[in-house]
Parts: sequence; structure tokens; C-alpha cells
Amino acid sequence: MNPSPKRQQRQRKTHYIFVTGGVMSSLGKGLTAACLGTLLQARGFSVRMQKLDPYLNIDPGTMSPFQHGEVYVTDDGAETDLDLGHYERFTGVSTTQESNFTTGQIYQEVINKERRGDYLGATVQVVPHVTDQIKSKILLNEGKTDFALVEIGGTVGDIESPAFFEAIRQFAHEVGRDRVLYMHLTHLPYLATAGELKTKPTQHSVKQMLGLGIQPDVLVCRSDRPIPRAELDKIALFTNVPAGHVVSCPDSDTIYRVPLTLHENGLDQAVLDHFRLGGVAPNLKDWQKFSEIYVNPPRTAKIAMVGKYTQLSDAYKSLNEALIHGGLAQESGVNIEFVDAEVVETASEEKLNEIFADVGGILVPGGFGVRGTEGKVRAVQYAREHKVPYFGICLGMQLAVVEFARNVAGLKDAGSTEFAAELGDPKQAVIGLMTEWQKGTGKETRDNSSDLGGTMRLGAYPCALVANTRAAKLYDAKEISERHRHRYEFNPKYKETLINAGLTFSGWSPDGELAEIVEIADHPWFVAVQYHPEFNSRPQAPHPLFQGFIRAALARQMAVSSHTKNKKAA
Ligand code: GLN
Repeated sequence: MNPSPKRQQRQRKTHYIFVTGGVMSSLGKGLTAACLGTLLQARGFSVRMQKLDPYLNIDPGTMSPFQHGEVYVTDDGAETDLDLGHYERFTGVSTTQESNFTTGQIYQEVINKERRGDYLGATVQVVPHVTDQIKSKILLNEGKTDFALVEIGGTVGDIESPAFFEAIRQFAHEVGRDRVLYMHLTHLPYLATAGELKTKPTQHSVKQMLGLGIQPDVLVCRSDRPIPRAELDKIALFTNVPAGHVVSCPDSDTIYRVPLTLHENGLDQAVLDHFRLGGVAPNLKDWQKFSEIYVNPPRTAKIAMVGKYTQLSDAYKSLNEALIHGGLAQESGVNIEFVDAEVVETASEEKLNEIFADVGGILVPGGFGVRGTEGKVRAVQYAREHKVPYFGICLGMQLAVVEFARNVAGLKDAGSTEFAAELGDPKQAVIGLMTEWQKGTGKETRDNSSDLGGTMRLGAYPCALVANTRAAKLYDAKEISERHRHRYEFNPKYKETLINAGLTFSGWSPDGELAEIVEIADHPWFVAVQYHPEFNSRPQAPHPLFQGFIRAALARQMAVSSHTKNKKAA
């Protein structure tokens, strides 16, 4: 008798793929894991992704974007590692609180249990208590997907990571070696004097894994050029990995090509072979198309991003990606010019024109703290007055409201109380904490004096769209859900004044209390949102606002260039 589909579902056992790194950091473990996720999906399997970070922070929420890149926010409000962004963009599967754990979180839970007496007087130790806690996280969604891809942050040998390696070693011992695959990423440096790629660091890295009791099943070898078969075979021989399971992954011209490269070099086949699974032939046409547009765009939108963390593009990872997706949807490339807000703040009119005159659009991203904010306000003003498409995100929305209040609605001293410590209390606090206008309602717990972690509006919230606005048309929906990460809000006290001056509020929280989207109707494209739409954009499903913004930017560039041509001809 065939088991019913429901029963089959219940009986499914998840296969676990542990992704570790060796030789050095920044090899693209997260991206490789995400691409493998995509390939397994294309083979007809369901996947979920998880990242275990050996650092001590409870979450990356309070870490500087300079050090750690952006904080990626999940639907359920976890502040996580930016690798989760790769996971979502490549697999389309939403991550959750259960997708990212750090040493800090694991120890906090173990210590809480110890204080509660859960360990019944036992001596609490790394093995078994910490390792058990780690394994319980890996097993959280057992049986729900065909594959779980679990990435261990950092590099084998890091002083923080032994408990994680020990946990994944034990894991195979407990669930069965046939349900586990260890995939190890390494790097082959090219030695110019010898004219060859060197395999020794890889051999040593695998030895280090063996020392921890883990024999890798698949190696993904990164390098700046294709690795000759002979070298791959040599690595296989020295590391005890089957020859076809040593996969070359040379540098790529775009991340969208990585799934194709890994597939061509046999990664998904090696994984299926290891688990003795068959799978359908994958259709990777989308990735082919994205790579072609990305590398040889028929046209390019030029976007000025006015921000603070301009020297490190990882600080705006999801935003950069979402802009690129918006371009892909229109077979266009996107050239993001990072403009330092502090430069804009003090620039002459002439210099401003030089910076912004020929861009297709201006974007002010999210941010915290006073530095650069007046420059961002100035960028908004330029966009509004010169009719340059403007997209404001989170802080970029708050500052758009400030600019409009000051320069259009006549509220000369409009500002945000976020900067009160440095600038003094603004006379007209158009942006502030809800407690500041809802005292005593008991609705709001966010305030300035609480810990930095955990006091924000975090995660997905519904937003009701106002009919016939640009936002409603772009989304083609009545209600949407978008992810938030901020403390401050628009102060509804100023709603009427701003509406009367010509600002359109096109999205509100369903109770009508929190402004989510503002726009200017009499402008080619001026949309500013309190949330972070970039977290919801995927190459295969570009976000409607980013599509709209890039479309408007391309239109402006066309207009500007034909204007310049006409001028020259005249
Ligand atoms: N600093 C602002 C706030 O806390 C905006 C945050 C952001 O842009 N993510 O509300």
C-alpha cells in the first residue's frame, strides 16, 4: 500500500549539508551555500538555510556596518547576518529567528538553563551542554524540507569555533552519516613566480578538519582562475575526497553566474551522488539571463546613493542588490555612485550640480545618528526642486519629511528628536519617538534610554495603501507587508499641515497611526518609505518600488541626454 501524501510528508527526513570554510575568510561561503540551495531547488528539492556564527554578540544588531556589513532583518524581526540576505535572494525562502544563531545566544540560553536548575546540578560544560544546545538549533525544523544547509561562520581553526565543529561532528554520529554532507570551502592561491595554483593550504585546511574528526565529503575550491583537472585530482588524492567531489569555483564576473559555474563544475551532482539521490535536470535559464544583462547591459541607470558608510558597499548589501534587480527587470544595468553625505552638506551649488545633474535618481538609504543628516536633507531638496527621481528609505523617508516640512510647509525648525542630543530639541519635531506624543497610553515601549539592542520596530508589519497613489499603483495591492528596523516615526500631529502643503501620505499602518509611505504627486517620482523594501527584493521577483524607481531614472537620463544633444545641435 502506498502511504498517503500526508504520511510521506511526515516521514521525510531532512538531509543536512554543513558548509565550513578554510584557509582564509571572505571566500564567499554564504554565497556558495545560497547557490547550492538554488541548484537543489532547481533539481526539485525543498531547502532551508541556517547560519551559525561563532562570535559572541547576541546578534549583529549592534555591530557597526563598517565591520560587519549590513544587518539583515527577517520577517519575524531577527537582526541577522547579511549572509541571510544571500540565502533569501537565491532561494526565495524567507529566513526567520531560527535561521541565525551566535555563540552569544547559545551561551545565554545555556546559562539561563543553568540558573533555572534545568541541568539538575550537573557540571555545565561545552560538551555536552553547549554542543547539545547547538545541535538542538540545527534540528529545529527537522523533516520540513528535503535539505537543510547549515553554514558555520568564520574559518576552521578560529578560536571561537571548536564547539560548533564538535557539534556538527556529533550530529552525523547521531542522525547517521548518510544524512550528512560536509562541504568545505578553501582557496588556491596563484603563485606568479611558480606560475601555478598552490594546493598546500587546502591540504592543510582539510587536515585541520580531520583533526576535529570531520572528513569533508565535498570541497569547493576558490581561486582567481580556473583550476586544472590535474590539480583537483591531486587535492582529491591528498584529502580522501572522491575526485568528482572536488569542485572548482573561480572568481566570477557576477554573483548571478555562480549557480551556473557551480553546476557546470559538478557541485549539485556531487551532492546528489553523496546522498544517492536522483533529481530532475535543473533549468538555470534565469541565472544565465541575469548574468548576461549584468555583464553586458544594453543601458545603465545611474543612481546617486547619499549615505554615510560609503567606503564599504557591504553596508548597503541588500539595497545594492535590490537596485540591480530593479534594473534586471528592465534589461538595464545599474551604476550606483556612492556620494558622501558630508560632502553634499558643504558643497557649493555648482558642486551639487556636478554631483547630481546627470544622475537618473537620488536615493537616501537608512541610517542612524546625526552625522551626514543635513547633507542628506540637502540631497532631498535637490531631488525635489530639480525633479530628479527620489527614493527615500527609512532615515531617507524621515529626512524627506523634514525637508518638505522645512522648505515647503514653512515649518522652519522641523527636525527629528533622534538628533536632539547634538542639535537640541527641534521646535517642530516632525519625527520623534511615539512615547513623545502618546504618553500614558501604554502602547509604546521604545525610548532613547533603553538598551540599543531590542528597542526598535523590527520585522514585517502590514501597511495599508491609499488608493490611486503612486505606491498603490506600483504595488498593485491594497495591503502589503514590509520589514522595518527603526526607532523613530512620523509625528501625526503634523499630518494636516504637510498634506495641505502638498505631501501625499500613501501608506499607513492599518490602524492609521504610523505613516509608512510619503510621496509628492507633482514630481516625476518621489517616494519615501519608513520600512526597508530592499529586504524583500529577489532577482527573480524584483521589488515593485525598485522597478519603478529605476524606470523613472532611465526616463530622466533619456530626457537629460536628448536635451544635451539638442542643445549641442542648436
Ligand atoms: N535612525 C532612524 C530611526 O531609528 C532611521 C533608522 C533606519 O534608517 N533604519 O528611526
